[in-house]
Amino acid sequence: MEMFINGAWVAAKSGATDPVTDPSTTEVFDTVPSAGAADADTAIRSAQTAFKAWSQRTMAERVGILKNCAKAMRDSADQIGAALHRELGRPLAGCIAEINSSASLLDIYTEEGLRIHGEMPISTGAGEKTIITREPVGVVVAITPFNFPITLLMFKVGAALTSGCTIVAKPSEDTPTSTLMLAEIFHKAGLPKGAFNVVTGSGIEVGAALVNHPVPRKIAFTGGGVAGKAIAAAAAGTVKRVTLELGGHCPAIVCADADLDNATTAIARHGTANSGQFCYRVNRIYVERAVYHDFLEKLTAKISALTLAPADGTGDLGPMVNEKIFANSVHQCDDARDKGARVLCGGSRVTGAGYDDGFYFPPTILADVTDDMLVMQRETFGPVLGICAVDGAQEALERANDSDYGLASFVFCRDLAKGIMLCEGLEAGLVWLNDIQRSSHYAPFGGVKQSGMGREKGRWGVESYLEYKTIYLSYEVPA
Ligand code: NAD
Repeated sequence: MEMFINGAWVAAKSGATDPVTDPSTTEVFDTVPSAGAADADTAIRSAQTAFKAWSQRTMAERVGILKNCAKAMRDSADQIGAALHRELGRPLAGCIAEINSSASLLDIYTEEGLRIHGEMPISTGAGEKTIITREPVGVVVAITPFNFPITLLMFKVGAALTSGCTIVAKPSEDTPTSTLMLAEIFHKAGLPKGAFNVVTGSGIEVGAALVNHPVPRKIAFTGGGVAGKAIAAAAAGTVKRVTLELGGHCPAIVCADADLDNATTAIARHGTANSGQFCYRVNRIYVERAVYHDFLEKLTAKISALTLAPADGTGDLGPMVNEKIFANSVHQCDDARDKGARVLCGGSRVTGAGYDDGFYFPPTILADVTDDMLVMQRETFGPVLGICAVDGAQEALERANDSDYGLASFVFCRDLAKGIMLCEGLEAGLVWLNDIQRSSHYAPFGGVKQSGMGREKGRWGVESYLEYKTIYLSYEVPA
């Protein structure tokens, strides 16, 4: 594929390309341009030109066009989902679901856009009025990771376009094709050329060129902490607004009175979805000692029943996206095993017909883990759960909070007063009590501490692409 800039497919000016690999076989099935600073400049200039007209349209006009884009997404969900399945490896049904869910988020953003108002304080004197209005921030750069490429893109693109901003997106090197397809689908659905551009290539080359460019006024980033800190530092040079959705290392606390059937069902599903490759998955679990044995038994039964999906796209867990991500799960399991953890299921690479060429790692439970093990200290981004017993909720809370991360936390507890105390005490942007639903499109999403800054989704997402402007009016009052 080529890049999508100013409503057209283009190659990199250098002519260079990067391979796109199927993680279930490691076969290269496509290439995309390996863009550089000159390509970044072209894309940003096209977004800058498009901004003039797009930002001047009424909210109702923008919403009309974006609703058509959401419908076009749904109409093409099978096609984009198939591309996503090929580049990411997640079973096909989950990829199609991601496209439909992202279309819903776009619809919700447009509806939030229609509800946004300015203000006019009534405290002014005769012959004066103060209008507080809101304007789109300008050209936006969206840099996204591999794991939910369309969802995490829509967190940004939907809110930015609704607000009147135009955008240049830079998808992950692993998963560029679904994003490229989406840009053309939006253009065909009526989005003006230049409003949504996609450049492809490496983060440190074209990604950094986008961030350092003087024109964009906001960088919306989801990805790892190393890249996030580099982007925040670079953006400071031109005082760009930055939204950072970084990593997580999310704790769950299971109290002795918890409904263990519910807790283990929720944790088994959430801890292994997308092969554990998502930021707010449960990673480490603190269980009150009285129910530790029962909890492990129930969870092991549910996790062991999950199936690995070979390239045909059926089953529960696909391959990991690339060797680096795969190697992290291997490394954390080896480290825990060496330090005395019990491996209750999984724990090493899956091989055999259909699996030998891909990055297949099984859902894994590490029991009796200690705080010195990597799985209890660092994000896994794989289907590995570290579990230990604790002597009471206070110990669980202290160990859960002893982390640089603060994205999501989970509590399982029938005693509502204790459950709420734990929810309030956990240092995280998101907390679930007694079940783990998908994060809501209507509610703010984001972390505290080194998990990031800023919020996406719902009206908070739209508002983060708007800047306040205060206009002071003076006029003569007729005698
Ligand atoms: P990554 O940080 O390696 O890459 C993310 C994106 O940033 C890619 O497009 C990459 O090309 C680009 N990039 C890298 N360095 C850059 C630089 N210096 N300048 C500009 N762009 C740069 O992340 P990944 O491996 O694709 O995804 C996994 C990470 O993403 C995990 O740490 C995970 O926790 C995080 N993540 C966070 C959330 C969230 O909402 N908090 C959601 C999903 C993933």
